[in-house]
Formats: sequence, C-alpha cells, structure tokens
Amino acid sequence: MSTSVPQPRRAVSGLPGYIAGRRSTSADTAALASNESHEPPLPGVLDAIVAHGRRANRYPDMGAVALREALAAHVGVDAQQIAVGAGSVSVLQQIVTAYCDAGDEVIFAWRSFEAYPILAAVAGAVAVRVPLRPDEGHDLAAMAAAVTDRTRVILLCSPNNPTGVPLGTGQVEAFLGQVPPDVLVVLDEAYVEYTDDRDGAASLALLSAHPNLCLLRTLSKAWGLAGLRVGYAVAAPEVAEALRRTAIPFGVSAVAQAAGIAALAAADEVRARAARVIAERSRIVEALRAAGWQTPDSAANFVWLRTTPGLHAELMEAFDAADILVRGYPGDGIRISLADSATNDRVLSVLADRSGSGS
Ligand SMILES: *Cc1c(COP(=O)(O)O)cnc(C)c1O
Repeated sequence: MSTSVPQPRRAVSGLPGYIAGRRSTSADTAALASNESHEPPLPGVLDAIVAHGRRANRYPDMGAVALREALAAHVGVDAQQIAVGAGSVSVLQQIVTAYCDAGDEVIFAWRSFEAYPILAAVAGAVAVRVPLRPDEGHDLAAMAAAVTDRTRVILLCSPNNPTGVPLGTGQVEAFLGQVPPDVLVVLDEAYVEYTDDRDGAASLALLSAHPNLCLLRTLSKAWGLAGLRVGYAVAAPEVAEALRRTAIPFGVSAVAQAAGIAALAAADEVRARAARVIAERSRIVEALRAAGWQTPDSAANFVWLRTTPGLHAELMEAFDAADILVRGYPGDGIRISLADSATNDRVLSVLADRSGSGS
C-alpha cells in the first residue's frame, strides 16, 4: 500500500486550517465574537422549529418556495428575484460557482469578511484585495481601477465587517456606473437592519437600473437565526436563477425554512430589537471616545478598534481575563459585537482601564 494520500488542489492546501475559536464556557461568558443577536429566538420561531422537527425524516422543499415567497413579500420583489442558501456564505459560494471559471478574478476590499478569500480560492478564482482607506471604508476608486478583463465578481461589504463603515447608496450607484455591465457587483448587506436604511430600500431601488447588482442578505444577524443557516440574494431574475442552479440540493433544511418564515412574520419585533442595539451602539461609541479610544462610526452591531501589535495582545488578554469573547485580527484590530447594556458595560470597563494606550 502506498504511504501517500491524495493531495488537494494547490489553492486548497494554501487555505488556512480551521482554528476553533474559544467557546462560551459558562453562562457568564460574553459571546461577542460573531456578531450574533444576543436575544433568544423570536416569538413563533421556536414553535415552527418544533413543529418541523417532528418531520425531520422528510426532505425539505428543494425550491424553498414558501420561504422565497415570504422573503420576496418582505423585500417587495418577485420570488423569481430571490435565491436562498444555508446562510449568505452559502449563497456567496453559489455566486462564485455560477460566475467564475478558474483564473477569473474576484475583487473585494481588505480587510473585510474572511469568507471572501476562502470562497474565491475554493472556486479556483483569483482573489484581488484592495486595501481599505485610512478611514476604514472601501476605496471604491481603487476597486474600480482594479477591474480587468478577467474580473467577473466584485464584493462590496456594507457596512464593512469588521470595521462597521457603510457605503452610501450614491457611492454604490456611482461605482456601478464605472464597472462594466458584465461584472457582477455583490453588495453584502448582512447588517442592513442596523443601518440608517433599516429595510434596505435604497439599495433595492438600484436593482432595476442595474441588473448586474446582487444584494446579499441574511437571517443570521438581526433576525437571530445564525444557528439555522438562512441567507438570500435579491437580484435580477436571470442572476437569481443562476444562483438557484448552483445551490447544493436541499441546502436549507425544512426547520430553517419554517423558522425563517416565522421570523419574517415578526418583523416588527426584529426592528425593535435592532433599534435597541442601535441605541446601545451610540452609547458605547460615545463612551469609548470619551475614554480616549478612536473608533469609526459603526453602522452595524459591532464596534472596531484598530490596534498596534503590543496593544492587541494586551487587549486580547484583558478580554479573556474578563471572560469576554471578542474577535481579534492580529495586525489589524479587534471587533466587538454589541449586546445588552450590562454586557456592553463589561466591555467598557475592560477598555476604560486602558484609556490613553488606545490611540
Ligand atoms: C455574518 C456575515 C454574513 C452572514 O453569514 P451567514 O452565512 O448568513 O450566517 C455575511 N456577510 C458578512 C459580511 C457577515 O459579517
């Protein structure tokens, strides 16, 4: 028997291995590393989960028709314009699979969502990273200048994860005017419910004039379903159809489909929950600045602190000692999800102790 084992493609061997993050160890652990909602499932969601759990021996509806119709009604489009997946990460994989051949280019800002380079590499595409501006926002001029005849997809993340800085709709529209119409521009709006345009009406209004625009949204964050995996794209019918074709069959479970429909039925409660996070965000950003920290205006459910290497290690240790899980990006900074005010106060007390070292 040979001692060698089959080797994955070079692009795959080059990917970082999965490093398990620290999990919550007790009820006192503050889980602020993944931008989840800190609130339990919405009214009606648990009932839907239980009811559909009883039928787990059956396959889900492969077309996710009822879920797509509920999403379409929520957004105000035709269900033909909706494609769903097991989280918007999965929809993003459908996008790259549908539009990129090996060697094609995917442009995105950096630092941004960590899934972007991984999904590009898995598809055999070339990841083109365009550095953020000093103000932590996308450098759209540089991104437009990075387009080549191999560019198939551009990923815009607004508000940007992990910096929280949003793109204005006017900026996105101007950018679309600079990009060739055969390049798909994906606007990842995972946190749209926390922005000034909470229903995302402004970006939606760009769709009719720009069939190469694809909005990417999720029920993982404000809608509180991170553990059930429901994400969706809103796009021209032809684009949505391409994404449905590249979906893994039965990717969204029946439990997740039903929970998604139940969550959408509780949209008012979701808006109220998001409003509480937004109010906390203003309070926390103000308190951080008063304590001497520089943090950009966040339009999401997290705040961002850029760090030097020494400060980074010190802060990560301090959060660990306080039993607070945050997301550290060595060499860049630390992202801290917002939660209820008592938990946010614990974050402030860790940071208040270190005021002055932060800028
Ligand atoms: C959290 C997040 C998502 C959502 O991922 P899901 O797969 O839907 O859970 C997508 N994009 C960004 C930028 C995110 O931060």
